[in-house]
Amino acid sequence: MKKQVFLLPLLLLLLCGCQQAPQESSTQVYAMDTMMDLTVYASTSEAGEQALHAAETEIYRLDALLSRHDESSAVSAINKSNGTPVAADEEVLSLLKTSVDYFQQTNGAFDVTVAPIMDAWNFTGETPRVPSRQELDQLLTLVGSDRIVFGDGTVTLEEGMAVDLGGIAKGYASDRLAAVFEENGVDSAMVSLGGNVYARGTRPDGNPWRIAVQDPNDPSAYLGVLLLTDKYAITSGGYQRYFEQDGVTYYHIIDPKTGDVARNGLTSVTIVCDSGTMGDALSTALFVMGYDNAVSFWQSYSTDFDMILVDEAGTVYLTEGLKDCFDSSLAEHEYEYVYLTKN
Ligand code: ADP
Ligand code: MG
Repeated sequence: MKKQVFLLPLLLLLLCGCQQAPQESSTQVYAMDTMMDLTVYASTSEAGEQALHAAETEIYRLDALLSRHDESSAVSAINKSNGTPVAADEEVLSLLKTSVDYFQQTNGAFDVTVAPIMDAWNFTGETPRVPSRQELDQLLTLVGSDRIVFGDGTVTLEEGMAVDLGGIAKGYASDRLAAVFEENGVDSAMVSLGGNVYARGTRPDGNPWRIAVQDPNDPSAYLGVLLLTDKYAITSGGYQRYFEQDGVTYYHIIDPKTGDVARNGLTSVTIVCDSGTMGDALSTALFVMGYDNAVSFWQSYSTDFDMILVDEAGTVYLTEGLKDCFDSSLAEHEYEYVYLTKN
């Protein structure tokens, strides 16, 4: 009897130990010209820190591979092709091929060969500027993802052409982080790479993650909150990187057909789906397409996804799949919410 009295508390202690609440660990990383927030829940804070460290290492690795402004990156090597084949590693070739697939699927709205046009606008530089129509027309002769030539482990770009993976790299990075968390046994995490959110698993209490969606027409306010489990929510908006000149706002999403800032009536596009790479490419592409083409694209695309479109009038369009996972009760302004159906 005496023995049992002693064993019971010990057993309870062990049981409680096993079911200890997951520990939160978080960090911020500055990479890809973006402040990134990473939060993981793991069984111990050591395990969490280790997973974050692995995630950070992976982000820096991808930045060093994909950055156009780092002279020593794989993408910079490709951009010096000038008509001769450049050997590139499989990962970069594969992401480039995926980018070309999105070019084809989006009828040219997503086009990584906008690089020379991006340079002319210089959005990320100290002195952004508005290029003349003549300059843009000249540069447009260097744009067209269908002109990228893939060989056996190589890629060739015509003289003057260059690629910019800025519209897909963060989404791809979020997919890679999913793999890193998997390897590190982390099944509850939330990362935000700029406007690219990856919600892994559920929150530790078993509830979905809550992701606030910014109002593009008043970025200090929220349109509502997405309740997501194991999803990517990726936003492209004109308010993320921009400059103003003579009362006009110019932002970093380019219509590859004109070389001009994409102004087709939408102020933001959020894609909710199962792949960061796809969400990133499509958020940029559908922003370029404008409302009508974005809705037809959603209705007929081979892979299901959900989206939130906001137009210049401030109307919020949501696809039907978001009905049960969008909470507008905390929105700071009154919005008109319109649900879109497939037929
Ligand atoms: P963010 O980088 O803010 O998440 P996006 O995913 O929409 O926003 O990407 C914008 C970036 O994509 C630009 O900075 C540029 O590098 C690149 N880009 C701009 N226009 C296009 C386009 N039409 N197709 C592909 N990439 C683009
Ligand atoms: Mg994008």
